[in-house]
Amino acid sequence: MELNSNVPPGPLETKWTQHKFDMKLVNPANKRKYSVIVVGTGLAGGSAAASLAELGYQVTCFCYQDSPRRAHSIAAQGGINAAKNYQNDGDSVHRLFYDTIKGGDFRAREANVHRLAEVSVNIIDQCVAQGVPFAREYSGLLANRSFGGAQVSRTFYARGQTGQQLLLGAYQALERQVGLGTVKMHSRHEMQQLVVVDGKARGVVVRDLETGETESHVADAVILATGGYGTVFYLATYAKGANCTAIWRAYKKGAAFANPCYTQIHPTCIPVTGDHQSKLTLMSESLRNDGRIWVPKANGDKRPPDQIPESERDYYLERKYPAFGNLSPRDISSRAAKEVCDEGRGVGKTGFGVYLDFADAIDRLGVDLIRERYGNLFDMYERITDEDPYKIPMRIYPASHYTMGGLWVDYNLMSSVEGLFVLGEANFSDHGANRLGASALMQGLADGYFVIPYTLGNYFGTVRAFDKIGVDHPAFKQAEAEVAERSRRLLGNKGDKTPDDFHRELGRIMWNYCGMGRTEEGLKKALVELPALKQEFWKRVRVPGENGEINQSLEKAGRVADLIELGDLLCRDALERRESCGAHFREEYQTPDHEALRDDENFCHVAAWEYTGEDAPPVRHVEPLSFENIHLQTRSYK
Ligand SMILES: Cc1cc2nc3c(=O)[nH]c(=O)nc-3n(C[C@H](O)[C@H](O)[C@H](O)COP(=O)(O)OP(=O)(O)OC[C@H]3O[C@@H](n4cnc5c(N)ncnc54)[C@H](O)[C@@H]3O)c2cc1C
Repeated sequence: MELNSNVPPGPLETKWTQHKFDMKLVNPANKRKYSVIVVGTGLAGGSAAASLAELGYQVTCFCYQDSPRRAHSIAAQGGINAAKNYQNDGDSVHRLFYDTIKGGDFRAREANVHRLAEVSVNIIDQCVAQGVPFAREYSGLLANRSFGGAQVSRTFYARGQTGQQLLLGAYQALERQVGLGTVKMHSRHEMQQLVVVDGKARGVVVRDLETGETESHVADAVILATGGYGTVFYLATYAKGANCTAIWRAYKKGAAFANPCYTQIHPTCIPVTGDHQSKLTLMSESLRNDGRIWVPKANGDKRPPDQIPESERDYYLERKYPAFGNLSPRDISSRAAKEVCDEGRGVGKTGFGVYLDFADAIDRLGVDLIRERYGNLFDMYERITDEDPYKIPMRIYPASHYTMGGLWVDYNLMSSVEGLFVLGEANFSDHGANRLGASALMQGLADGYFVIPYTLGNYFGTVRAFDKIGVDHPAFKQAEAEVAERSRRLLGNKGDKTPDDFHRELGRIMWNYCGMGRTEEGLKKALVELPALKQEFWKRVRVPGENGEINQSLEKAGRVADLIELGDLLCRDALERRESCGAHFREEYQTPDHEALRDDENFCHVAAWEYTGEDAPPVRHVEPLSFENIHLQTRSYK
């Protein structure tokens, strides 16, 4: 397998502009002759489907929810970055580029990240034009706040519902095209298989989740914008339905999977309280603008927070990282929380929690302003914990939140399968080994509104004539047979354990051995336990009901089976990457003050895995990374 990044030549600042000029165009009258399938209607897929239909292509779009606007993007709370420099505080395209490369611990492609920073400014204009109600200053200018890993305020937001408001914008644009007949929308349809004909992605096989019917759809190109795979940890801040099925099945059809071990653990989530939980809740990073994080200085101090005097509190992020303090990046803040809890200084019943305290901010700014900024997040916290965060500090702990790994794509967002493009969280994005807060929404919308409309046209303009094929092509028939056989196997298995039992067990293995800290010993154990779990799954899973009806157990079982296999690849990748970088923390590789210790000589590359068969080990390929504009340096937030 060859991994050619196809980064265009020329100076970094003009690569994208020049590339846009150099790429092939499809004339307006010819655009309607080309068809594209978009799987996913979150910010990445929704924006792509709407933009491509507006350009004139025939678009068929799928999502598994009952409406495109219920994609997981709707849950995003805190905001979206853009280098507008409205605050006049020193921001620029170059600074956003620099912060993102550094935040990702020098494991992302420079050219992609620079393009992302460039188009960030267009995203805000596009969304404002759609009517997205961003927060504004009294003057009417759009307001900004700060997120981790940056010393400027560049995060645009709509209270704590930024994802919802952005998605409503993309959804309306999409629905307009549905109304015009240029997008055929199929909600409640789950992609089960990618169809590759003569080396090119030419369609998908989907299951209608209401009738159980299997359908094939043909197109000239396929776009996957199916989100991240953080539910591999079972407990996560993701929507319960989030899964890896689409990208996993594409991996098995030849799409390389890049950096699966780069998974983000977000530092500010409501802590786990017991086995009864099926998901976790994020408290947005925006809260760290005004909240101060602390634990008692003394081990085992169980006094209520208001009885612990200032002098006996350890504001450990402010102490360890004075330059960035409570706004240190997520990987660093998460590890710091784990460290103080492992020392026995954690708070709450389980000891796996730290305080996020607003008392100072309320004193300084008044309760009304804090309510205006974060009211819905405080209400959500109170509803879940029955504690009033205006009076008692919140308790938070890290949880699985985002995946930087995903299907490998080149500069044009094309995977290693010709004609298969991957957008948003589903690709091995521009965030390297750690994503900065408020940069996922930026990337999803950059991919959908501003990159794929050009690069897909270039693909069509290059291939020009696609073979006319129909769903009776043998490749479709074979894919349909694979889907049917899998459902038959799952339903016919008269086991005694639910898909959720296996999912929970998968989460336990992943969190214990491949969570915030990873060791060779632990990863090797995981690589023994995961194949055993897979075997047990196929022996003992029980899926009640039939195929020809709504069957959520069947849906879940299929997703869990894929997540178990992906867990295995994730651990392999973590084992092979014998360095610490960003969120990938191999405990053997750390500095004396417990920071990640990179090995640039041996690991300054993207690792992309090739599937070689059910019982054969995957092959690891490497795309070297070079840093010509920002010199490789040790990350410091001190
Ligand atoms: C609680 C929370 C808060 C967050 N807050 C922020 C924030 O403030 N700022 C920020 O930048 N990022 C934030 N993030 C991250 C961000 O929300 C996501 O990374 C981003 O929304 C992902 O968008 P996406 O379009 O790639 O995928 P998604 O929004 O996850 O959409 C995936 C789509 O794919 C479809 N799909 C998936 N599989 C299939 C299949 N097999 N067949 C058919 N359809 C399929 C789904 O139906 C859905 O439509 C947050 C994440 C969480 C969990």
